[in-house]
Amino acid sequence: MGRDRISSGVYKVLLKEIRHIFHKELDHQYGREEVEHFFHHFVEHYLGQPRFHLAMHPNWIISREEEGEFFRGLAALRQGQPLHYVLGSKVFMDLNFRLNKHVLIPRPETEELVRLVIARHQEDRPPLRILDLGTGSGCIAISLAKYLPQAEVFAIDISGKALNLARENASANDVSVQFSESDMTHMEIEAEFYQIIISNPPYVLEEEKALMDPHVKDAEPATALFVPDDRPLLFYEYITGAARKGLAEGGHLYLEINQRFGQEVKDLLSEVGFTEVEVLKDLHGHDRFVKAKQRI
Ligand code: GLN
Repeated sequence: MGRDRISSGVYKVLLKEIRHIFHKELDHQYGREEVEHFFHHFVEHYLGQPRFHLAMHPNWIISREEEGEFFRGLAALRQGQPLHYVLGSKVFMDLNFRLNKHVLIPRPETEELVRLVIARHQEDRPPLRILDLGTGSGCIAISLAKYLPQAEVFAIDISGKALNLARENASANDVSVQFSESDMTHMEIEAEFYQIIISNPPYVLEEEKALMDPHVKDAEPATALFVPDDRPLLFYEYITGAARKGLAEGGHLYLEINQRFGQEVKDLLSEVGFTEVEVLKDLHGHDRFVKAKQRI
């Protein structure tokens, strides 16, 4: 099992043997390419070396402790846990975020939304008060606090467990965000207080579950993902109401959306009185974001 006995009687663990075991144990479940991807993530995470290090050092020997980490990771993957829960973290906007099963794993699309906001508001002067609704790991709020240092950032989530993690992530990334436990559907919001409101709320329909990867639908928090089939815009209705009250004149609303409902979210925003409502596409060409402005 990845060990050779050498003359001194000490076990030597060869990393390439571990890789071989990963493929043997996991290829039928995930496919060879995906397993290679997992393995390289583990090499970077547990051994702190770039993936090509093994190609350059084919007889790379790891310690018994390191071997133990690889095998614990292998067992978790075999049970179907998503890679980033197994690793316990993910990089988002070049910042490290700790993750656990109480929060959604940050997605690349959400990074696109955050980049867009940073680019648009980089030069804004204070006050720049930002509110993130349904913050989860805190990835949106914390990245905005980091890259818009003039901002004062607030964030809510319904889950106290998610907020504990978000607080840890804020302090590990050396930013200050004011977190509070609150339900988006029953929130008290200060009138005309925020310059930006942003949210990536639950937007996956129950009926879309069948099409989803089991590692997402069975492992990630359902409260962060799903809405009933007959209320696809459930959270958008509450968010737009709160944003109409909470945004200062000329304030900006940024939302991540289900690609199937670009037009519907746009119509909703226009109906409640927002202006400059625009649907934007993600890198895959799907309708993924909507932005709008509070009428002056
Ligand atoms: N984009 C996520 C997914 O496809 C869903 C995020 C959300 O519901 N806000 O799993």
